[in-house]
Amino acid sequence: MAWQYLIYPFKVMGISQTYDGSYSHRKYSTGNKKDYPIDEAGADTGRDYMYAPADVVVKKIYGRGDSGKPNTIWLQTRKKVITPIGIFYVTGRVTHMSDADIANLKVGDVFRAKEKMFREGTDGGATGNHIHMTWGTGKFKGSGWSANSNGAYVLTTTGSNRKPEKLFFVDSGFTRIRDSRGLKFEKKPEPKTRYVHTPGSRLNVRKSYSVKSEVVGKLADKLKVTVYARRNGWSLIGVKKWVASRYLKKTR
Ligand SMILES: [Zn+2]
Repeated sequence: MAWQYLIYPFKVMGISQTYDGSYSHRKYSTGNKKDYPIDEAGADTGRDYMYAPADVVVKKIYGRGDSGKPNTIWLQTRKKVITPIGIFYVTGRVTHMSDADIANLKVGDVFRAKEKMFREGTDGGATGNHIHMTWGTGKFKGSGWSANSNGAYVLTTTGSNRKPEKLFFVDSGFTRIRDSRGLKFEKKPEPKTRYVHTPGSRLNVRKSYSVKSEVVGKLADKLKVTVYARRNGWSLIGVKKWVASRYLKKTR
């Protein structure tokens, strides 16, 4: 099964406001419920392209042609993708691109990984060119958003809203980091072949990267596995499948 890695969708990372930003984001990230938007301004004050972070499908288009409503697109990965915290469907909503950049876009359209989608903009009254974006695990759900306890419209998915550094890897051959505003993104790894090393016993497979997480299977000594990502001493080997990295070896 060849899952795609979810990669940061700009060639220059120039975050101008994180989810903690007091300018306009705290109402999202401190409410009930929460999401974690960032503003991405790219290389400079111009209009950089946003690229597809994996193969994604357009699920909803809002605000096009209405200057009082900020243009907003909901995107969902076509398949489960590899993130730093596991393999999931991922859904996001992205805002402020111009009417012209999405004039021909339709629900159901697909962008391929790393394909140009649309540029930063100011549609809906943003003060400078940027894309506001917020992401979560799971598929598009309901109308794609709902008001939280602060009156902010947060993303709705079949999973959970997540901070962007938990979902995106930075592909260092694709993205240059100009300003991450202190957010710590992991570099996109390469899948690695490893062998279980548990002489005389079997290796627990857990649902998540914690010894408190449910055991969902056991692997025989010497079994070959593919490691897609590592996190806190744990290795991701499949959908809801993590094993302790210290029991894996490079050779059988
Ligand atoms: Zn914003």
